[in-house]
Amino acid sequence: MRRSSEPSGIAMSDIVRELLAALGAEAVLSGGAVEDRHAADWSGLDPARPLAVVKPRSTAEVATALRLCHARGQTVVPQGGLTGLAGGATPRARDIAVALERLRGIEEIDADAATMTVLAGTPLEEAQRAAEAAGFYLALDLGARGSCQVGGNVATNAGGNRVIRYGMAREQVLGLEAVLADGTVLDCRNKMLKNNAGYDLKQLFIGSEGTLGIVTRVVLRLHPRPRGRATAFAAAPGYAAVVALLRRAQGALGGVSAFEALWPDFYRFVTDHPDTKSKPLPDGSPFYLLIEHLGFDPAADAARFEALLAEALAAGEIADAVIAQSDGQAREFWVVREGLAIDTLPGLINFDVSLPIGAIGDFAERCGQALRARWPTAHVFFYGHIGDSNLHISVAATFGPGESIHDVDDIVYGEVRARGGSISAEHGIGRLKRDYLGHCRAPAELALMQALKAALDPRGILNPGKVL
Ligand code: ZN
Repeated sequence: MRRSSEPSGIAMSDIVRELLAALGAEAVLSGGAVEDRHAADWSGLDPARPLAVVKPRSTAEVATALRLCHARGQTVVPQGGLTGLAGGATPRARDIAVALERLRGIEEIDADAATMTVLAGTPLEEAQRAAEAAGFYLALDLGARGSCQVGGNVATNAGGNRVIRYGMAREQVLGLEAVLADGTVLDCRNKMLKNNAGYDLKQLFIGSEGTLGIVTRVVLRLHPRPRGRATAFAAAPGYAAVVALLRRAQGALGGVSAFEALWPDFYRFVTDHPDTKSKPLPDGSPFYLLIEHLGFDPAADAARFEALLAEALAAGEIADAVIAQSDGQAREFWVVREGLAIDTLPGLINFDVSLPIGAIGDFAERCGQALRARWPTAHVFFYGHIGDSNLHISVAATFGPGESIHDVDDIVYGEVRARGGSISAEHGIGRLKRDYLGHCRAPAELALMQALKAALDPRGILNPGKVL
């Protein structure tokens, strides 16, 4: 290629020239042609424009790109919908981004097997709709459904709002296809619920955040489509009551599909904010809960749901409750829980920790005390998927000289470590939490992770500096 055709006078590197020759100008963008959105995900890490963005149209093109990058030791950052919160998809200036967005579409719905095969760049919401149109239910659901992609959901083992009933992304995956660092295509497109023939290799790529291979196709498990939904918002007098109600609800309903708790500071801030437009129950309660049940017999389910709340009220596990009378009202409850209003606070720091369910109340109390003692004017919010042992913490503090986000990290992760918790329940490690991985994984575990990384990616080209 002649120099005059190169974008904005930047000297083109040999690897970009090779990728262009192999994949064509439509699939390889470099220099000024790289769109801004490829410079960062939603983690808040400093954006960096990658050397180039490759947008493959097929698994074969992903394989070609990786083969060429592998030969030159060129580092690669896989990118899905860029909605991750841990920095797993944020590149450095010397990396090449491989964006899966053009690998998009539903390839097959097998109604007999109750599976769906989708290309990695398919937005989650598109896959959910296709499942629904075929009379099934895709149980993976999270707030970023309109932007996130199935490949990214699988690579990060996304959690979300239905985990208590259906499990994380990992539980929805029966098979997948991935491209290894050297360009080898690994076809593990299994459709069978049972398959014990040797190592379950797909698990290497689920939740490893693009550090062991790039997922290109996914075989998802589909569930029967629920016929009704009951949603309630309740106020509870204390954390012990919250846990008692969780166990009562699981027993009475044969499983809930969401059990979310909101601490009062979060509830007051979100429901007082003009973006929210509703306050399901008055302020002043120690805990607020969103409980949801997906069922198959709407009339009987509604009666059981109401009976459950009446029993909980009589037992003192809740002080007040309101049952959604329409889908619109249920949606309003979820808007309160999702709490997007807190994102209006500048410099918000978000945590996504996991703890044994019984320890969460005490953790939140101690952690809140420690943070407020250090930064008395800080906003400290606790909320999350309590039924999944997953607590989110958001902190907005004004730092003094010499202070930084790491001082907040040290307090939160110190409390997590002391209780045998995990520094990431569902968002992953990425670059943001890498330095704290040792707080929740033992030296022998970290050594095995390093050994797997070295075996699958000996030149270290796949998402370097992430996870490990
Ligand atoms: Zn969450």
